[in-house]
Amino acid sequence: MSIGMSFGHRIRHTQRLRQSLRLSQAQRLQIQEHAFTLRLALIHELRDERYEPKAICPACSRELTPMEIIRGFNQDPNDFTTCCSACSRRFEPTLVCFGDGTYIELPFYCDCQTLAQLQGKETLQPERFAMEYPAIYRSAIVHHGGIRQAFAKVGIQYAFEEISDWKNKIRSFLGRLPDTIIAECVGTPVATIRAIRRKLGVSRCTQSKMLVEAGIEK
Ligand SMILES: [Zn+2]
Repeated sequence: MSIGMSFGHRIRHTQRLRQSLRLSQAQRLQIQEHAFTLRLALIHELRDERYEPKAICPACSRELTPMEIIRGFNQDPNDFTTCCSACSRRFEPTLVCFGDGTYIELPFYCDCQTLAQLQGKETLQPERFAMEYPAIYRSAIVHHGGIRQAFAKVGIQYAFEEISDWKNKIRSFLGRLPDTIIAECVGTPVATIRAIRRKLGVSRCTQSKMLVEAGIEK
């Protein structure tokens, strides 16, 4: 803003700025979908396994987007269904996992169902956990970044699960996802991610940047 700008002009300028950042509900949802897709891409990079939430409505055949699946959950530990965004039919979604030449379909739990099923499993090493409770393990990664982070949310310290060699893997995601999300998926303090990003001269992730990257019209 130039120094010579009048007060009235300045106010109008500020109002215009506010308006340009005010997003419609549809844009906000698009940003959420975009951020979630990036989150899954980061998890894929970190863990060499790709996850894809999948739900095709048995009543109207609509294929729900990942965020629609997540929003459709009832946040009830005993209700495993999501809700069709077109016809409101409730049904159980799956999580498709693509590994090194492998493909498995598992139940997809919501964040609170995942947390509700952790108790008593904290002595299991990650490999064992993943084998015995594959759906809980993967759902925890999708929603909470990892099982250690999920255990921490229910006040249980989990002694295992460290992702090694993650510094190069997060590089292309810096500034495109909020530092908090990257930190959650790596299992490290936010300050660590922020410091790495700043050192590389990458500006922080903002809504405007996400709008542009997702190709959403302003
Ligand atoms: Zn439907």
